[in-house]
Amino acid sequence: MTVRLEDLPLRDDLRGLTPYGAPQAPLPVALNVNENSHPVPEEVADDIIVSISQALRGINRYPDREFTELREGFADYLGHGLSREQIWAANGSNEVLQHLLQAFAGPGRTAFGFAPTYSMYPLLTRGTGAQYVTGTRGVDYTIDAQDAAAQVADARPDVVFLCAPNNPTGTPLRTDVVEAVYDATDGIVIVDEAYQEFAPREERSALTLLPGRERLVVSRTMSKAFAFAGARVGYLAADPAVIDALRLVRLPYHLSALTQAAATAALRHAPTMLQMVDDIVGQRDRISATLSALGYTPYESWTNFVLFDGVDDPAATWQGLYDRGTLIRDVGIPHSLRVTAGTEDESTAFLEALASL
Ligand code: PMP
Repeated sequence: MTVRLEDLPLRDDLRGLTPYGAPQAPLPVALNVNENSHPVPEEVADDIIVSISQALRGINRYPDREFTELREGFADYLGHGLSREQIWAANGSNEVLQHLLQAFAGPGRTAFGFAPTYSMYPLLTRGTGAQYVTGTRGVDYTIDAQDAAAQVADARPDVVFLCAPNNPTGTPLRTDVVEAVYDATDGIVIVDEAYQEFAPREERSALTLLPGRERLVVSRTMSKAFAFAGARVGYLAADPAVIDALRLVRLPYHLSALTQAAATAALRHAPTMLQMVDDIVGQRDRISATLSALGYTPYESWTNFVLFDGVDDPAATWQGLYDRGTLIRDVGIPHSLRVTAGTEDESTAFLEALASL
C-alpha cells in the first residue's frame, strides 16, 4: 500500500501546500529559472579548482563556522564601507531568507510581500510556522512608495519582503519605496536584490540606505550574475546585531569548506565572473524588443528575464515551446509567460520558436 502525505502526522499548517516545483527537464534551451547561461570563465574555474582541492585536504575538520574570509570577500565586493561584521551568507539566498524568517518570523508572527513576487516568500514563511500576508501592486506591477507604506502600516507585519527588482515581473523598485516602507513598520525589512547586477549602473542599491537603519537587510545571491547557481551561495548585509540573531538559528558549520573555498576564489575574480552581465542585459533588451514586434507586451525589466503579456493561452504556448526544445516559465499570471535571457543563440532559438507557433 502506498503511503500518502495525508496519512502522515504532518504539521496541520503544511497540509495542502505545494512544494517549489519549477520543472527540471533536459531540454537544449533552458530559460526557465533565471540562471546565467554562461559557464564560469576558464581561468576562474582553474583557480576555483585549486582552492577546492586545498580545502579538500583539510576536509576531516569542520569548516570555519564564521566563514570569515568569505565574509570579507563579500564586504569588499559590495563596497559601501561595509565590513565583515555586517555580512552573512548561506547555501543560496533562499537559505539566507530562511534564516531571517526563523529569527524574525515563526509561530504567531507574519511576513508580508507585494504580489506577484518571488514564490518562495510564502513557502519559506509558512515553513517557519508564520502567516504570509499579501499586498497589492499598481499598474504594470510597480509599487508606489506612499501606497506601499500605507499597506504595510495597515498589515503590521514582523517581516516585509521587497524584491528589487522583482521576480517574476522584472519590475524596478526604487529606494524611496524602501525608505517609506521602513518608516512604516517596526519589523524587519528585507530588500531582496538577487538581480541587482542587471539593473542600470547609475541606480542606487538599498545598500546605500543601511547606515542608521538597524532593521534593514539587503540580500544578494551568487546564483544569477555570478553564474554560480550550482554552488548555492547567497549572502546579505545588515547591522551586526541582525547577524547575531541569525547565529541563533543557523546550523553549526552550515557552509561547507568546499563551498567557502569555491565562493571565496570566485569573488577574487569578481570582474571576470561578472563580465557576461552586459551581454545578458543586451539579450534581455533584444528579447523585449522582439517580443513587442511579435505583438506581445513585455514589462520593463531590470533583471535577466522578461515577463510578457498578450499570450492567449500560456499553457499551450509553453507546451509549443517545450516541444521545440525550449523551456521557459509559466508563473501562473494570466496571459503571461516569463523567459530568462540566455546566450545570443539561446535567445534566438526562443524567439524563433515563439514566432513559429
Ligand atoms: N530571490 C529571488 C528574487 C530569486 O528569484 C531567487 C532565485 N530564483 C532567489 C532569491 C534564490 O536564489 P538562490 O537561493 O539560488 O540564491
